[in-house]
Amino acid sequence: MIVVAWPTRLDSLASERVLGRNGSEQLASPALLMSRNGMTNPNEYPATVQEILDDTMKFKPAVLRAVRAYSKSRPWRGTLEERRQKIRALYAALAIAYSIPTPTLVFGDNGEGDSGRSCAIPAMGTVILRGKNSCISAFHEFHHLLDNSEREACRWSLNLFRRCFPRSWAHLRFEGHMARLDRPADPSAEV
Ligand SMILES: [Zn+2]
Repeated sequence: MIVVAWPTRLDSLASERVLGRNGSEQLASPALLMSRNGMTNPNEYPATVQEILDDTMKFKPAVLRAVRAYSKSRPWRGTLEERRQKIRALYAALAIAYSIPTPTLVFGDNGEGDSGRSCAIPAMGTVILRGKNSCISAFHEFHHLLDNSEREACRWSLNLFRRCFPRSWAHLRFEGHMARLDRPADPSAEV
């Protein structure tokens, strides 16, 4: 792939365009961008969800408290701004749990579409979330502030979600690296 554009602003990092093999312009994946920026190795993605599920995975008590408070706040309810405020509160609590500065949280679009183009910039303590508010993407990108490993970000976010959102977990289906929540009221809602 040939990069045909480059970011000039922080929030454009996840929307670089690359030239595909057939010459068509397409959005670069966050994995490609982060790899190019020395942040993660896209090849570290687990091949299956099952291989990273771990009933014995340990979480800091403060992390479980933070995520359970987030769960109780009903992450999918409220206006876009109200839902974003819940993620800001979650990030603030997780940052305290890990003794890191509160991350800079950028919402990179209007909250529509999928969240697969979300990304983290650990060197800047910044997470860019895109698409519908997604618990798992929010967890996943937060973990990149702690650890570059793609596999660990997947492992931590999915096991944490399963632990704290057991009913929603039962309704998850997976499409590649994307988890979707099937609910009667909102069949395409992401988590
Ligand atoms: Zn990742």
